[in-house]
Amino acid sequence: MVEKIKLNFLGTGSSIPTERRNHPAVLMRYKDEVILMDCGEGTQRQFRKAKLNPCRITKILITHWHGDHVLGLAGLLQTLNLNGYNGELVIYGPKGSKNEFKNMVSPYLGFYWNVSKKSGNKFDIVVKEVEEGVFLDKEDFFIEAIKVEHGCPDLAYSIVFKEKKRLDKEKLEKLKIPNSPLIGELVKGKTVEIDGKKIDGKKLSYIEPIRKITFLMDTRYIESLAKFAKDSDLLISEATHSAEEQELATEHGHLTSEDAANIAKKAKVKKLILMHLSQRYDAIPKVILGEAKESLKGTKIEVSVAEDFDELEL
Ligand SMILES: [Zn+2]
Ligand SMILES: [Zn+2]
Repeated sequence: MVEKIKLNFLGTGSSIPTERRNHPAVLMRYKDEVILMDCGEGTQRQFRKAKLNPCRITKILITHWHGDHVLGLAGLLQTLNLNGYNGELVIYGPKGSKNEFKNMVSPYLGFYWNVSKKSGNKFDIVVKEVEEGVFLDKEDFFIEAIKVEHGCPDLAYSIVFKEKKRLDKEKLEKLKIPNSPLIGELVKGKTVEIDGKKIDGKKLSYIEPIRKITFLMDTRYIESLAKFAKDSDLLISEATHSAEEQELATEHGHLTSEDAANIAKKAKVKKLILMHLSQRYDAIPKVILGEAKESLKGTKIEVSVAEDFDELEL
């Protein structure tokens, strides 16, 4: 049993929300880790509708500080405080994030509560400005960033789940193996004796393969994106414009359906999910999807357009 990575598309629209699509926000869950990627206005309500608990969030990744990607932060943080969120919440973002956060959220923080436990708040909020490369390396996964081009400091993120040798929990339970240091020996594939029975670790362990998810929001097409997204199991990409609007897309620092498909193709990703559609394509996502499919003809890459509240497991 591979440990599941769960994704919830909480908002799939762009700068103006529609009845169908809220501003961008995608939630990634893996074991105890709950990472929110961007937080458009109304994201906390999307949590409620999806029957997800925002108090479980452990980290927030912000791509850039345009309103459609961050205006949900203040409200969400206020709710976390009211709901007794405890611990430390780390918000990662591009250069300038500390100031942006302070300017946008602080009036509310100051009014309702303070930004750190030291000053009496229930939980700590830490804003970290991220450079390119790996900025967080945990036992199970690491997160890396690359600068993209959108007319303001802006990052794309990849979360890479490391290859791991794991023990099959169900088999462990069936064999009634107690939690002891012997478990560590079993993980190494060694044979151990428990209650007079010889147990072969190799038969209980399996390899959890590398899995990579890339989150690519507002940017114009640049060559470095394909290298960054290389071999992703899932590329979540903006596709604000139709292929016919290439000039407009480049001018405004956005991708077309075709751009996103080309990045997916060059990066040899397994699956491409498009979001951040302009409201003009809200009711006709088929246009965006059709163009992307056309560009991906002859490849095995799966492509779809995300709808709000879509769920996915990897
Ligand atoms: Zn946007
Ligand atoms: Zn933007």
